[in-house]
Amino acid sequence: MAKIYFDKDIKLSPLRKKTIGVIGYGNQGRAQALNIRDSGLRVIVGNRRDSYFRKAQRDRLKVFPIPQAVRQADILIIAIPDEVQEPLYERQIRPYLRTGQVLDFASGYSIRFRCIRPPKDVDVIMVSPRAMGISVRETFLQGKGVPAFVSVSQNYSGKADGIVLALAKAIGCTRAGVLKCTFENESDTNLLCEQSVWPILLQSLLLGYEVLVEAGIPPEVAVLDLWASGEASAILRQKAFDGMFGEARFHSPTSQYGQLSRAETLPNRELKQRMREALRYIRSGKFAKEWDREQALGYPYFKKLKKRALSHPVNRVEKRVRIMLEGYLGNSNSSLGF
Ligand code: NDP
Repeated sequence: MAKIYFDKDIKLSPLRKKTIGVIGYGNQGRAQALNIRDSGLRVIVGNRRDSYFRKAQRDRLKVFPIPQAVRQADILIIAIPDEVQEPLYERQIRPYLRTGQVLDFASGYSIRFRCIRPPKDVDVIMVSPRAMGISVRETFLQGKGVPAFVSVSQNYSGKADGIVLALAKAIGCTRAGVLKCTFENESDTNLLCEQSVWPILLQSLLLGYEVLVEAGIPPEVAVLDLWASGEASAILRQKAFDGMFGEARFHSPTSQYGQLSRAETLPNRELKQRMREALRYIRSGKFAKEWDREQALGYPYFKKLKKRALSHPVNRVEKRVRIMLEGYLGNSNSSLGF
């Protein structure tokens, strides 16, 4: 069973008098840096000189080019996207590392797939919040926190267990509870969700839309009912509170019967087999190699997939539905594309 830690179990003392260098100031970097600073610790930021650099300065943090931040920090939080970590590490972090420093990751990917191979004389830890950066910051400001996975993959100092929990506390995660697991657990779970669970959900919503529209239902009605009203996300949120099946009491008996009886008739054996294969592919490192190749070629297939997704007729329907829902759901960011 995974061990769970809360605020009362943890002390910040392993981080006192240490400098924590946050490399990258995006989603996780900004949220973690501000929370750690507000926890009373010394934080600096490493970033190239651009809008992220200036944002950190506006937030009254000391910002340096990455090599300088690496030299000054005792603990380094790697808060840049997984796919750019390897080249950035090789060029701007590894040459400046010194014995006894701590490398902290917000996801298990780079270590698990050996994109980054840290030297033996540093600690390697992970604090991986289970929420977007914006929630990490907002919940902290409300006096709460988001849960996280924590892990130690290399304990050179012999103190890494205390450091990883203290860091989780400084970020606010032990307020909600942190679970100890491995880098492999985090990345396998995360990638299987991204590559099996979410695609099945996404595809079932889209197929549901297509079947309804083919059958003469107005597209706006289908979109509103399937996801645009926000009911689908509210259901998932409620499941987090009441459990996968406990949440069913909020649905009518007709809905409960429909859901439970038809779930049994899906090609579950085949779906499970596909998921097992996806997990095997992830664990073998073949997905990491596939993604590496795609990046090296300049994302040709990824670009094609995005283009195809954006040309689906549902995008036009959603625009009309969004206008209707502006007062209800607030402004959308969909014009930013993806
Ligand atoms: P972001 O995309 O928000 O990171 C942006 C930051 O990375 C900026 O500071 C940017 O600065 C820097 N960056 C981007 N590309 C490069 C590059 N080629 N060279 C140098 N710096 C670069 O990342 P996230 O916060 O989303 O992810 C960071 C880590 O957190 C990842 O490991 C991710 O898996 C993990 N994570 C993310 C979550 C999320 O909510 N997004 C949730 C949980 C974990 P600039 O472009 O100026 O260099």
